[in-house]
Amino acid sequence: MLDYLFLQLIHALAVQKDRKGVPNMGILQYAPQALKNLFLPPVTTSYPFEPATYPEGSRGHVDIDIDNCISCGMCTRACPSNALSVDKMKGTWTINRFDCVACGFCVEKCPKKCLSMVIGYETPNNTKSEAVYQKSPEVLEREAKQRAEIAAKAAAAAKAKAEAAAKAKANANSQSETEPKA
Ligand code: SF4
Ligand code: SF4
Repeated sequence: MLDYLFLQLIHALAVQKDRKGVPNMGILQYAPQALKNLFLPPVTTSYPFEPATYPEGSRGHVDIDIDNCISCGMCTRACPSNALSVDKMKGTWTINRFDCVACGFCVEKCPKKCLSMVIGYETPNNTKSEAVYQKSPEVLEREAKQRAEIAAKAAAAAKAKAEAAAKAKANANSQSETEPKA
């Protein structure tokens, strides 16, 4: 019954005339496929009620293992669309997913291999918000300690250098004072 009605509809559409009064038969080209589709399952899915399936080769989206990031900024320099930013002091890594073109350059460049392309897409949103990833307090504390140690070592080295220079100058002065004058 359904296919009969469908054929009737196709026929009615097929005998329509265009503006110049010529019968429009082009619709008949699609009739076999349209008829076939009546007996095939739908090609669409009920996402989000059913999990989405992604085609092979789909790049997905960039993800980060933030606690392994060393905030070197290599990814930001590699990004062709300026979608990334890094704040070393705050321990954040930020991505604007509306600007990201999923090229994967950042993933290739990351020296710590903490970036990856993950199959699937982010949850749709109606605002252009950025995704901000924050290092854990333990990692921030460890990094602050490392920075303090490096600064202390640099200060000690600078002090030792200044003392050595002052000592050398004092030696040179005392030598010139003890040398007999000609
Ligand atoms: S995948 Fe490409 S566009 Fe997206 S953040 Fe990485 S480098 Fe930028
Ligand atoms: S390249 Fe890797 S380690 Fe460097 S800032 Fe980017 S994510 Fe972090």
